[in-house]
Amino acid sequence: MTRRAISILGATGSIGASTLDLIRREAGKWRIVALTANANAVELAKLAREFSAEIAVVADEASLPALREALAGTGIAAAGGGGALVEAASRLADVTVAGIVGCAGLAPTMAAIEQGGTIALANKEALVSAGEVMTAAVARSGATLLPVDSEHNAIFQCLAGNDLAHVRWITLTASGGPFREWPLERLVRATPAEAVKHPNWSMGAKISVDSATMMNKGLEFIEAFHLFPVGAERLRIIVHPQSIVHSMVEYRDGSTLAQLGPSDMRVPIASALAWPERMDTPCAPLDLAAIGELTFRAPDEVLFPATRLAREAAEAGGAAPAVLNAANEVAVAAFLAGKLAFTAIAAQVEETLGRFAPPAPTSLAEVIAVDAEARYRTREMMEPA
Ligand code: NDP
Repeated sequence: MTRRAISILGATGSIGASTLDLIRREAGKWRIVALTANANAVELAKLAREFSAEIAVVADEASLPALREALAGTGIAAAGGGGALVEAASRLADVTVAGIVGCAGLAPTMAAIEQGGTIALANKEALVSAGEVMTAAVARSGATLLPVDSEHNAIFQCLAGNDLAHVRWITLTASGGPFREWPLERLVRATPAEAVKHPNWSMGAKISVDSATMMNKGLEFIEAFHLFPVGAERLRIIVHPQSIVHSMVEYRDGSTLAQLGPSDMRVPIASALAWPERMDTPCAPLDLAAIGELTFRAPDEVLFPATRLAREAAEAGGAAPAVLNAANEVAVAAFLAGKLAFTAIAAQVEETLGRFAPPAPTSLAEVIAVDAEARYRTREMMEPA
């Protein structure tokens, strides 16, 4: 049997770990091309050795000597820097898992798309920032873009065999995050430690904060807007605290299809890795009798304005989603560093969007330039006067 070639961008992160856990269970079926990280050379080298990767790459060049040392004598190539990351991502692979966090994943994800294989996309910020540019590249290269985000993977499954023209609504479910029951007085004082403690999912720090502000759902709204072109007016968000229904599609005849599963990213990752087949996961079967109740309610966009901001950015189009994403990344980093109040994250994103409206980017280089300028301006606005 020919083994399928796979590259994992962001191998040392939460998505990387879940992917490698699945690969480990089917070791004979896969051949690892590239594994990448930002600066965690020790963990990356450990994984590269375990999985006999062709090449391991750290984006942060300062971490390259440590990576080289840890891989000495193994025959595994080691490289560092942004160019090396893009080169590794453009190596021929059947599947590339785009699991880098933030817009930093954009250039390597685009490089993987250009080589025309299957892209299992977790890195939502890349698609949010580069929407039209990325979808045009997918069409041009013939790459297959499979969503790994649990909501989009659910929608993808609910759409199978149906025509988008028959869709009445696509409904993204949101857990509501750890603060969904908190009043404003408490939200203002929310700490990074409280924000990263998600009730249902175990994820990296940035997406956990996005989940707490509901910006994660906002980014997912824009992601869905590009992946499933039914128009922003047919996309809805509903809060579903149990995170069992991962999203739904309602058709014009009144039928609603939903995908259900445990809150474990190995399920949507397995769906993308095996598509159009299925593969085993070690996840416990869904026990609905034990869960008992599935509840739903409308989101509160006064306390959590991020979904409104994202919807407005999607409707405005052009550079707005890239500006929203860049401002959010800067604000979340400042919050995690203890320099910004939790409620100031969305406020800062709104301020940046109000004060910076560049022309629509039409190429990868222009998206990267908008992203860089929006970051610079957001940092400037956040500096005490
Ligand atoms: P993590 O923070 O756990 O991991 C991020 C990965 O990206 C690490 O390998 C990290 O390397 C690497 N990385 C960070 N910064 C850079 C950079 N500047 N250049 C290159 N590589 C970098 O994130 P998650 O796994 O939680 O999330 C990854 C993506 O998947 C995000 O876009 C997120 O929104 C999305 N996603 C995640 C889900 C989850 O359950 N975790 C669910 C759905 C979507 P290093 O270890 O060296 O820092």
